[in-house]
Amino acid sequence: MAASASPWTLRARWIFPVNTPPFADGILTIDGERIVALEANRSRAVDVDVGECAVLPGLVNAHTHLDLTGLRGKCPPGDDFTDWLRRVIRHRRDATMEQITSDILTGLAESLRCGTTLLGDISAGGISWSSLAESPLRSVVFYELLGLTEARADPSLGLARDWLHGHRALAHCRPGLSPHAPYSVRKTLFSRTGRLALLSKIPLAVHLAESREELELLRNRQGPFVSFLKELGVWDEDGLADSPSLVMKLCNRRNSLLFIHGNYLTPSARIPRNSTIVYCPRTHAAFGHAPHPIRTFLKRGVRVAIGTDSLASNPDLDVLAEVRYLRQQRPEIPGETLLRMATLSGAEALGWADETGSLEAGKSADLVVVPLSKDGGSDPHEQLLRSDLPVQRVLCRGHWL
Ligand SMILES: [Zn+2]
Repeated sequence: MAASASPWTLRARWIFPVNTPPFADGILTIDGERIVALEANRSRAVDVDVGECAVLPGLVNAHTHLDLTGLRGKCPPGDDFTDWLRRVIRHRRDATMEQITSDILTGLAESLRCGTTLLGDISAGGISWSSLAESPLRSVVFYELLGLTEARADPSLGLARDWLHGHRALAHCRPGLSPHAPYSVRKTLFSRTGRLALLSKIPLAVHLAESREELELLRNRQGPFVSFLKELGVWDEDGLADSPSLVMKLCNRRNSLLFIHGNYLTPSARIPRNSTIVYCPRTHAAFGHAPHPIRTFLKRGVRVAIGTDSLASNPDLDVLAEVRYLRQQRPEIPGETLLRMATLSGAEALGWADETGSLEAGKSADLVVVPLSKDGGSDPHEQLLRSDLPVQRVLCRGHWL
């Protein structure tokens, strides 16, 4: 990363701090890695003037799997969820370590290009840690736990403990835990992982209520998941929770919890206070799921963040493309809400909001420059979201990438 002389100033047509409304002809002053001031001033001379562009906080991808980057276009989601899972598992089993490492680096490079400066990565074996630790962006690496049968759950927890022991938080890369999903994780493994997360003061991410098939399995012990799990030799009816709300409870409400997808949660579902629903709009659409209860959650004040999910179900790792897609699909959601979901809400979910997620004096100088469309009229959110102009420049921790 090229170092920038300090302090220096940056002007744009619109600055979107996100914690406060956007303002025109804004100037940011940056000193080293930090933002030190924001002001509106049309006439003052500045060091860098990006012109007819928006400056937003660095984007936050609250859910991805970088190790599946090699699946781009190879595993299109259909209406058979367990069949898609079979194809993902086959890829995982066939891929070499070199391939996976190279895929992680490819996904990381794409994330940075798209303006992601904070990322939550679910990582099989915690393998993405070294790549993320060396990368300029901030991250939480969620070590993935699997184990529905007792025989698998015990060693899974032991390995997670060992991994945590060897991977202490760094200045910009922190550990988390991810008990995968209700169909792959034993009830007791949820509660024991919840306790471990609480003791370690780290966040917990769980795929929850993702498909109708998952609900059918939990409620009735029926549906395509039964043969899928039997085929894998991991069927254990007694290990299953009976509802998404039980899973939430087992994860321990005192933890900082990320519930990934939540496609089939009932709109009135009781969501623990310090938790976040991570919505992955284009992946949700690719599977043809029923409409997401996001609008009700937002109205109820439930925190919703944005994830791209992996390239096994999404065309790219572009968070801005996710909210632009959502802008088209759900025009009733205000632009400022969409932008918050893609930035500050994700930072809050991942435990990084003291450092990043909004443009505020004292926070890390993480920002993206996006050209504004002339089609959006005078509303700056519309100019930003009713456009497909890509992120032009990315400043991460005070350095242009
Ligand atoms: Zn996922």
